[in-house]
Amino acid sequence: MDKKIAGLHHVTAIASDPQRNLDFYIGLLGLRLVKRTVNFDDPGTYHFYFGDARGTPGTILTFFSWPGARRGHRGVGQIEATAFAISPDSVGYWLDRFKEQHVTAEKTSARFGEEVIRFTDPDGLLLELVTSDSIAQVESWADSTVPAEHSLRGFHSVSAALEGYERTAQLLTASFGYRLVKESGNRFRFVAPSESGPGRIVDLLCMPDSRAGHVAAGSVHHIAFRAKDDNEQLQWREHLVELGYDVTPVIDRTYFHSIYFREPGGILFEIATEPPGFTLDEPIEQLGSKLRLPPWMEAARSQIEQVLPPITLPAKQ
Ligand code: ZN
Repeated sequence: MDKKIAGLHHVTAIASDPQRNLDFYIGLLGLRLVKRTVNFDDPGTYHFYFGDARGTPGTILTFFSWPGARRGHRGVGQIEATAFAISPDSVGYWLDRFKEQHVTAEKTSARFGEEVIRFTDPDGLLLELVTSDSIAQVESWADSTVPAEHSLRGFHSVSAALEGYERTAQLLTASFGYRLVKESGNRFRFVAPSESGPGRIVDLLCMPDSRAGHVAAGSVHHIAFRAKDDNEQLQWREHLVELGYDVTPVIDRTYFHSIYFREPGGILFEIATEPPGFTLDEPIEQLGSKLRLPPWMEAARSQIEQVLPPITLPAKQ
């Protein structure tokens, strides 16, 4: 395989209450809702996509919102933490903001020379803000609740908790083209070969004595890496099948096309195409303002709208 993976496309996690989810990610973290749709496999529930102004691949955090969902628990075979990049000048701003809004957050000891703020969302999803000197170019959203200079700049990294990390490391290096650049204790840092762009880092945490995690509310469901186009995705599919992975056929997710497989440590991986993107069915000014359904669900729109709980988007103060 001569292609390389450029970085993350999106991270998908599970939430319980949809309004609480919107209040946290738009109201507190200042992300934009770039798509308001339903879970295509469960159309009575929301699927929210948050990101920068356009939903640039590498900035997108999505949630399946399942009201009343039980909480999962952290452990091996899942993503331990999802980190967004911030400017090194924004640490004080964020610590103050969390304090003002009564969200427990702590600045942990520096990791590979970068500062880390840890906190959880209302469902217990572990998140981090990590300072980065090489901030990716993302499109900040003018109506964000957070000033542009302090805004989240797409993903910094994800940390994957694994019982043993070698086979996952092999997939990242031998296939995806990532390099092991740093290690400290049980943390091994891999970086995509791309020169720039958000979400280029995956940290593998070797945790042989930990119990298996349980994916439910407050956990990451899967992570997606980005492919430039359909052709590149098909090459990835062929390559992974040759390696013995059980890979799904290409699935149409409207805003991108997806293939899924389980990596050796048990985490669900996806490879998603960058096109067509979130402006496919609404102009950039209106992203997220209305419920969008794929063409094959439009006939059922009124029934779907009756089942979905009402929501309101938090506005800039
Ligand atoms: Zn996905």
